[in-house]
Amino acid sequence: MKPLLPFLFSALSLSVQAEVQYQMTMSDPAHHLAEVEMTQTKGQGSLDLMLPVWRTGRYEILDQANSIRALKASIDGVEVPVQKVDKSTWRVDSAKAGTLKVSYQLYANRLGDRLHHIDDSHAFIDASGAFLYSADQRQQPLTVNLSVPQGWNSVSGMEKIGSHGFKAPNYDVLIDSPIETGLHKSYEFQAGGKDYQLVIWGEGNYDGQQMADDLEKMVTASQAIWQGYPFDRYVFMVHATNGERGATEHLNSTIIQTSRYNFAPRESYLRFLATAAHEFVHTWNVKAYRGDGLVPYDYQQENYASLLWLAEGSTSYFQNQLLLRSGLMTPQEYFKVLGKSITAFKANPGRFSQSVSQASFDSWIEKGGDYGHNFSVNIYSEGALVSWLLDADLLKQSANKVSYRDLHQRLFAKHAIPATFDDNTLLTELKDLSGKDYGDFWAKRVKAPLGDLDFDALLDQFGLALKAGDPSPYTGLTLDPTGKVLGVDKGSPAWQAGLSDGDLLVAVDGLRLQPGSFEARLKDFKTGQSLALTFFRRDQLQQLPLVLAERPADYQVEVVKKPSRAQKAAFKAWLGIDLPKAQ
Ligand SMILES: [Zn+2]
Repeated sequence: MKPLLPFLFSALSLSVQAEVQYQMTMSDPAHHLAEVEMTQTKGQGSLDLMLPVWRTGRYEILDQANSIRALKASIDGVEVPVQKVDKSTWRVDSAKAGTLKVSYQLYANRLGDRLHHIDDSHAFIDASGAFLYSADQRQQPLTVNLSVPQGWNSVSGMEKIGSHGFKAPNYDVLIDSPIETGLHKSYEFQAGGKDYQLVIWGEGNYDGQQMADDLEKMVTASQAIWQGYPFDRYVFMVHATNGERGATEHLNSTIIQTSRYNFAPRESYLRFLATAAHEFVHTWNVKAYRGDGLVPYDYQQENYASLLWLAEGSTSYFQNQLLLRSGLMTPQEYFKVLGKSITAFKANPGRFSQSVSQASFDSWIEKGGDYGHNFSVNIYSEGALVSWLLDADLLKQSANKVSYRDLHQRLFAKHAIPATFDDNTLLTELKDLSGKDYGDFWAKRVKAPLGDLDFDALLDQFGLALKAGDPSPYTGLTLDPTGKVLGVDKGSPAWQAGLSDGDLLVAVDGLRLQPGSFEARLKDFKTGQSLALTFFRRDQLQQLPLVLAERPADYQVEVVKKPSRAQKAAFKAWLGIDLPKAQ
């Protein structure tokens, strides 16, 4: 039988399909204010308009509805009542059908959340903090038009209409395509048949052309992992700021914030490039394919996902590899990054208590305090370690023929959005790629805490070795510059002494502690020696003895003196370059 009915439905839905239009006027940039007008067709019955409670790329409830003020609605020019029904939902309380206009004021001053910021030099708008949506029109095409001060330029990953307008096929694309408009520097380049734009807002110690040239080198290195691109055009947005730092991936763009003086020296600049590479990797790993629980996004509540370690960890794992493969980072610099990540892992008590899978699921929990310090692992750094372990095992298992990159190419080719994947999908693909059942690996490395890892064996596979740095004094205390205890490592000397988060350290052995001088003071003591720590605890002066210990300050990764042919082959298969000579 001919499927008449589906055809009828699609014809019907086309006939009522209408654009949603957003008009934003930067009415008072100096006070971070804009006026927004939203126009759409409304059917009969009341209509709920919502603003997301979180934004993509940041797994945290941000409650952005606190930026919406003085909301009014009219249908065919006649004002209708609106009532708030929950923290992020406004109900247009009218049964009438017609053209709905909703107007409101937007207060945009959350730069550091990469949510929205308007001032007299620019506006950055992530739609999840600015534009309302209704569930039934989420899939409708839409347009955004901006009225901006003279001289401003408007940029987004979205398709442009006119100087300051954009269109998107639906709200999901809008929400994943932030807009940067204002006075900024702009650079364009092409690479691998794709168009790229770099826009930089803010002054700083950067060379914009050099940055564009370096990004051009980085982007094509992506093809060592994937075949093809999920975009035709990509925008790097950079905010050179006075304190905000961080970055967020979007559909075919990224927003990177860093201190205006963080583009030099080289180590800082490499960190910036690594961040850019990280966000760029996300264009595949998260934006083109992502794990169960995050497809489709539910903007009104937390999206629990046990594979966030793969989303963030693999991305962190690949970020420096793109720099290495494109020649932007030297092998020695790459080894230094590896050494630092091993040092950080060995110092994290959470490696004995939480798996990367649990850390993924609990990503929405506030990370501070003892949870962050002693109980949890990080989906970025520990996720990258699990990625490395898996890569090494795949290479070993397949005589260097199959790598972790092949798994990601599979996810891109076979499980791209709107499809998704879960742990079982990954196990099936891994078995198919390598012939090995990775169930045991999953049980030990993904679903259980990593505990202590054998880094010697891991590095030896690639002709590398781990060298511990000189031991340095160890208390287990993390202090802020004023001497306030931010964290106490579980089981450490400070833990055993009885110190706690929030204690304010004021003296060591009866002598006042100058701001930021604690680590330097420790050098005057020997391992095993007892120090008297004087501190305020909730305003009460107290003293406790602490027995000083030591631990290796930092681990370094080095090339072995006489690498075997097998080690050289494994290194080349792993990173795509020759194993350098030992130094
Ligand atoms: Zn990320």
